[in-house]
Amino acid sequence: MKLEGLSILGQTRVKPAGKPNAAINPATGAVIGPDFLWSTTADVDAAAQLAADAFVEFSRWPGKRREGFLKRIAELLEANATAIVERANQETGLPVARLQGELARTCFQMRLYGEAAASGLCAGARIDHADPNRKPLPKPDLRSMMVPLGPVVVFSASNFPLAYSVAGGDTASALAAGCPVIVKPHQGHLGTSELVALVVQQAVRDCGAPEGVFSMLYGAGREIGIALVKHPLVKAVGFTGSRAGGRALMDAAAARPEPIPVYAEMGSINPVFMLSGALNHKAEELAAGLHGSVTLGVGQFCTNPGLIFVERAAAAKSFLQKLENLMASTPPGTMLTADLCSAYRAGVEKFSKAAGVHRAVAVDAEAGEGRAQAGAALFVTDAVTFLGNHSLMDEVFGPSTLVVECSSREQMLAAAKKLEGQLTATIHGTPEDFAASRELIETLANKAGRLVCNAFPTGVEVCHAMTHGGPYPATSDGRSTSVGTRAIERFVRPVCFQNFPDAALPDELKESNPLGIWRLVDGKLARAATPS
Ligand code: NAP
Repeated sequence: MKLEGLSILGQTRVKPAGKPNAAINPATGAVIGPDFLWSTTADVDAAAQLAADAFVEFSRWPGKRREGFLKRIAELLEANATAIVERANQETGLPVARLQGELARTCFQMRLYGEAAASGLCAGARIDHADPNRKPLPKPDLRSMMVPLGPVVVFSASNFPLAYSVAGGDTASALAAGCPVIVKPHQGHLGTSELVALVVQQAVRDCGAPEGVFSMLYGAGREIGIALVKHPLVKAVGFTGSRAGGRALMDAAAARPEPIPVYAEMGSINPVFMLSGALNHKAEELAAGLHGSVTLGVGQFCTNPGLIFVERAAAAKSFLQKLENLMASTPPGTMLTADLCSAYRAGVEKFSKAAGVHRAVAVDAEAGEGRAQAGAALFVTDAVTFLGNHSLMDEVFGPSTLVVECSSREQMLAAAKKLEGQLTATIHGTPEDFAASRELIETLANKAGRLVCNAFPTGVEVCHAMTHGGPYPATSDGRSTSVGTRAIERFVRPVCFQNFPDAALPDELKESNPLGIWRLVDGKLARAATPS
């Protein structure tokens, strides 16, 4: 696969017309060729039209055929793994082993979502048979299922250059749902994006899919990104990134003559609650586990624990001392981009100046031109200061965390009640701690998409039961998840057929169940043909 720096429009490449941009190695600041050419609003029109045309056929594909397409993408990603990982390593500074693991996760995700499409899980078919003898009125025959929304625009994440990028979770879930995808790639890994897009383009050919099922347009978010979101043929948006970016897309989508849903996964500080029993039982072990979670991947995970509530306990001091020692001895790491690194430095600077906040650790990092080295940071404050300063809930994206010392469990509960929506909330406690913390658990269940017990929030399993979402501002829509097979539900809507003749119904709803999928028939889950 040869990099050309050109956007992908169905089975063609966008002609070189736009502004040239460089890919940068964040570890050295060096430019890595080729030039990447920004697309134009004419390309946005062309991609949207192509996607809308493709939708007509692609939305009719049975789940089994969509599964074949997703599997083919996974096979081709695996066949081209060496080149993709090598380029991603140069563009992101992420270690090869991490990227190999991420590629495996990306392929697993493609296959899992494909299986979900084939099994009928996404179709959500429901049948309520007619009852002509019901009194006082006869009951009609009602059958409903989920149908795809239409073309989806996906904004790649910076921090998962494979698993939440061009062929990542949003793309996989939209394709599994039956929606064509147009990707707006992240500027942090332009070449990786092109390699992966070429793989998807080939899978489209290999599977005989309509060409507009996949396009990828290089460009700036505020220009090409916004033009895509506003395009009348686009029907939904998937996004992972900053609150400001996600909010801009939400506002643009809501202001359209026909508003569309935006599924934006934005910041989260993932509070961790250290209860006294757990602290007294294993203070040092907790400090080591927390340090590992805060500094993993130079802190660039959306589930990074950025806020730690510590209950008054005999062992609280040794917990804090151990954490301080570990943070202070953490070597600096390369962040994904120089921009992310300057945002991190600005966040650390802001917390350093906050009244009542003690900077316990701030590891010096080399700040040479074009480089993106970040050092770990640890801040400590008390619950009264935290409760009085809303900005202490701001995300500092990187290897930094804020410890809040609480003098009582009531004070801890008051702080929990003040939290904004989160992707995760974690509690460390003994069985006795948990028994005495019912209100804290209930409060956190109202605040977060995933509650973690005696573990750490980093590491998001891709499976059926996962929720990677949470109330605003963690995401734009707390009813959704961006990880796990439920992510597919973001890109479908229910349609109900009343009193339709069997032959005119979609296969998913026909009496004989020709696809053999699970359906809710008269209130009971069934896979067999329904008796006619
Ligand atoms: P970002 O700045 O939000 O950018 C993500 C994507 O959105 C990029 O493609 C960007 O386009 C586009 N975008 C940003 N602002 C926009 C706007 N006003 N209108 C239209 N498009 C816009 O995120 P980032 O570069 O990945 O990282 C910045 C910050 O996001 C981090 O410091 C961190 O706080 C947060 N973050 C959170 C997560 C998470 O999982 N929650 C993950 C990554 C980052 P351009 O090409 O123009 O840049």
